Amino acid sequence: MVPDMTDKPKFYQDGLRFECLQCGNCCRQPGGIVEVSEEEISEMSHALRIESYSFKQQFCRPDTNQWQLKAHDDGACIFLKDNRCILYDSRPLQCRTFPFWPENLKSHYRWKQLKQLCPGIDKGRIVDVQEIQVLKNSQKIFKSANGIWY
Ligand code: SF4
Repeated sequence: MVPDMTDKPKFYQDGLRFECLQCGNCCRQPGGIVEVSEEEISEMSHALRIESYSFKQQFCRPDTNQWQLKAHDDGACIFLKDNRCILYDSRPLQCRTFPFWPENLKSHYRWKQLKQLCPGIDKGRIVDVQEIQVLKNSQKIFKSANGIWY
């Protein structure tokens, strides 16, 4: 039988500490891109009580296969107001799963590097390995379903 490489021990086998301190840093990264699916656009439009078509016109730009949220000139997400996300309850999966993205979980070094951006790394409760895997895999599933590859 071919060994399942996904079963090899991970540096986060014992979980990772994380707590969002609501600093907003991850929402205002120059060059940062938030990809959104049609379902997410529909949900955010609903929260703003507008049609998906208007939402796309006002707040999105087309990507190769789908849509991205617009950003201000300084890189801040268009929905970041007074350091808070005005669509927090309807925020896209990409935002919900940060910082447990596959690229951030590639190595312990990458995870530690992320502290420069996110002060919530190594703070708060321990997120266990099962929860980390769910968050990480949901990003992968979203990206492959929308034709995005790492
Ligand atoms: S950078 Fe980290 S602590 Fe700051 S808002 Fe984002 S997730 Fe929360």
